[in-house]
Amino acid sequence: MAIWRSFLTIWIVYNNFALPVIVPSGPTDSKCAETLKKINPTPLRPQGSPVQESYFKVIDAVAAQLKGKKTFISPKVWREKTAKSGLPGLDLPLDVGGKNLPPSEMVKIFEYAGRYSLNLRDVVGAAHARPLLKSKEPEHRQIIEKVARGEGYLAIAITEPEIGSDVSAMTSVSTKVPGGYLLNGEKLYNARFETATDLLIFTQAPGSTEKDPKLNVFVLPKNHPGLTYKKLKAHGLYGNSFGGVSFKDVFVPEKSRLGEDGEGRKVFYEHFAYWRLMQTAAAIGTARGALEQTAERMRSREAFGKKIGAFTHLQQELANLTIRLEMASAYVEKAAKLMDEGNYAEASRMAAGAKAEGIDVAEKAADFAMKTFAAEGYSKNVDLGERVNDLKGLRIADGTQSVLQSDFLKKTYGQDFWDMAFGSDH
Ligand SMILES: Cc1cc2nc3c(=O)[nH]c(=O)nc-3n(C[C@H](O)[C@H](O)[C@H](O)COP(=O)(O)OP(=O)(O)OC[C@H]3O[C@@H](n4cnc5c(N)ncnc54)[C@H](O)[C@@H]3O)c2cc1C
Repeated sequence: MAIWRSFLTIWIVYNNFALPVIVPSGPTDSKCAETLKKINPTPLRPQGSPVQESYFKVIDAVAAQLKGKKTFISPKVWREKTAKSGLPGLDLPLDVGGKNLPPSEMVKIFEYAGRYSLNLRDVVGAAHARPLLKSKEPEHRQIIEKVARGEGYLAIAITEPEIGSDVSAMTSVSTKVPGGYLLNGEKLYNARFETATDLLIFTQAPGSTEKDPKLNVFVLPKNHPGLTYKKLKAHGLYGNSFGGVSFKDVFVPEKSRLGEDGEGRKVFYEHFAYWRLMQTAAAIGTARGALEQTAERMRSREAFGKKIGAFTHLQQELANLTIRLEMASAYVEKAAKLMDEGNYAEASRMAAGAKAEGIDVAEKAADFAMKTFAAEGYSKNVDLGERVNDLKGLRIADGTQSVLQSDFLKKTYGQDFWDMAFGSDH
């Protein structure tokens, strides 16, 4: 009979629950301890640098606090709770209260947050407040500082009822008047208005034409006089609201414009190259979390007298999706490093490719997980349905897969490919 001389606590992490299992350890271990040691319940967890690991711990701690509560998926609550640790300002400079982490450090933290829920895509870093970094306006700086303190949260209003992908064709306008602009238009299918403190609104700039489109972007407090909000129900990403805003002859002072008159397109493209990479990293985390649950399920669930993991078609698909996610993750990291180095053109080409491919494989992986859990996967016992629906939302938000494929093609093979399909890209 074996005499146990020491013990080992193994944490089995499953679907946001952690269960401690005490097993014997040491030279007289039973076979059970050896077997358990070979199973890594989180094989796809990103391995971080010391700085990244310290933020992984912050995320774990808040996740444990909010587990089972509605606020588990609320970016606003997360931002408040993690502000002390610096999470909402991770990608902001030190002088506004940030931590100045470069894109290559940020991606793994986004991925780690995404493992819990894709709603946490809005929890790491300053998100849509980052374009304000280019502004010299003291009021814009105050907003950034508020975001770093976990008190500010920005919505971004670009899409309109009739115009989405073709940003340059938006119909909202800004007309020059003494001291500022009058804004007229309507935005729809936009996230975050209910929880935002401030918003970025994109409009056509004065003098913009079809051949030479120019946009303006304005920073306004959410309660700016004349803004009228509308609510919509969505199929996922419930941590943020979904809806629209309209404005008729709304006066905004000149100083609320970001950048020079007509520079909105530049602001848009620079911001979204970074944002798309980070969103892809979060989505990869969401999908990897789903695959880890699936591997565990394949070990434990039996059908026809066998573990379902014995079915090779499930093994092959698990392998295929795991490999594709690993490749997507490496690609995202490579693009982020290029961004660190200032190679913005190549990084933004890769960001388009990363989001097009990364979200696609992430969605397929989450759907495979849901399918493999079968009836339970369809129930709310597990979070796989939410993962699938949230990823379907991100497949559209911040640039659809097919638009980004077209953009990637243009940036890889040449403008003529875009022009062949869509005419001049201005
Ligand atoms: C969850 C969610 C959150 C969102 N949040 C925001 C937000 O905060 N702010 C905001 O402004 N908007 C937001 N959006 C809107 C989103 O940015 C747009 O839906 C998206 O840009 C696509 O626009 P559209 O829906 O008008 O599609 P359309 O532009 O009408 O496209 C229709 C179809 O045609 C395809 N297509 C169009 N042009 C091309 C092209 N050149 N090449 C290939 N295919 C093409 C598209 O892929 C799509 O399948 C959000 C959307 C979702 C789902």
